[in-house]
Amino acid sequence: MSNSRVVADLKKIAGMDNVKVSEPMRSHTTFRIGGPADYFVTPQSTEHIQQIVKYLKNRHIPYYIIGNGSNLLVSDNGYRGVIMQLYSRYSGYEFLHDDVKSAADKAGIVYIKVQSGMGMMRLAALAAEYSLEGMEFASGIPGSVGGGIMMNAGAYGGEMKDIVVRATVMDEDGNVRELDNRELEFGYRTSRVAAERLIVLEAVIALCPGNQKAIREKMQEIAQSRRDKQPLEYPSAGSTFKRPQGYFAGKLIADAGLKGFTVGGAKVSEKHAGFVVNTGRATAGDVVELTNQIADKIYQLYGVKLELEVKKLGFDER
Ligand SMILES: Cc1cc2nc3c(=O)[nH]c(=O)nc-3n(C[C@H](O)[C@H](O)[C@H](O)COP(=O)(O)OP(=O)(O)OC[C@H]3O[C@@H](n4cnc5c(N)ncnc54)[C@H](O)[C@@H]3O)c2cc1C
Repeated sequence: MSNSRVVADLKKIAGMDNVKVSEPMRSHTTFRIGGPADYFVTPQSTEHIQQIVKYLKNRHIPYYIIGNGSNLLVSDNGYRGVIMQLYSRYSGYEFLHDDVKSAADKAGIVYIKVQSGMGMMRLAALAAEYSLEGMEFASGIPGSVGGGIMMNAGAYGGEMKDIVVRATVMDEDGNVRELDNRELEFGYRTSRVAAERLIVLEAVIALCPGNQKAIREKMQEIAQSRRDKQPLEYPSAGSTFKRPQGYFAGKLIADAGLKGFTVGGAKVSEKHAGFVVNTGRATAGDVVELTNQIADKIYQLYGVKLELEVKKLGFDER
């Protein structure tokens, strides 16, 4: 099937402005790394997502979902297929109460239904605006709600599993269903969404009425702590490795003397050894070489197997 035919069909479904060709993935990842995706689509409705999934399945065209690309390393060759980004163009929300303020005044739980492209930081800011607590932990996590559910993102004592009541998901055939919190099978930085290659479309989030000043103070404390400890001045994908049972990846890497260890433009942060940063011109190849060398060294020294938390896309697996 010709390239121009696919582009025309995708534009017909998603709209002219929502389809790009040979789109550099470095523009859509917080690592600022990644070659071109053949097609890059930003659907704005659930119907469009469903039509695209069915269209691609019928034509055996591979696709991959991203949110803000904040946990993603895309290869230098890019991706042969369609990247479907569910982020700011698919980020509506509604309170599941007629009047959120009166619900909050009655000290009841407040439910917010969000499309999966809603940023977790934006949702935390919205929660604070309405004096709702429970979302503060996510105020510095630069991903989407969909990516957060897929990864069961967490920080500072909170995780997505604590606040997600249920999610609407789509399978690879385009079938839509709801999964409740238990059915989402959240684990450490994973969920059923990952295991079954589901697409998170929407989620219902439960938050509790709280004290706005206290909520904002907690968010500021978290932001300050992140600024103090994390290399936010460099592009990265957050923690590079998962926490191995009984250890902290960053501590093992620091203890191994690997702070500042560099391959090409990829470097182990001097500020937080759990982060690999892009010092400016890192390639995906640099990051892969660096992380392989780190993992080998940590295994040699401590017998601990480090597993990447960052998702790799467009590579032949090692
Ligand atoms: C500076 C920095 C700090 C970070 N701090 C934290 C932290 O404290 N805690 C933490 O857990 N993470 C942290 N992260 C990592 C990252 O923000 C989270 O993993 C986040 O949940 C990823 O969301 P995303 O939308 O960017 O997902 P992406 O990176 O776009 O994708 C990640 C995975 O989720 C899948 N995915 C994305 N959207 C959907 C969807 N709608 N449906 C199905 N699958 C989907 C993708 O296919 C991919 O496999 C940090 C990252 C950075 C850069």
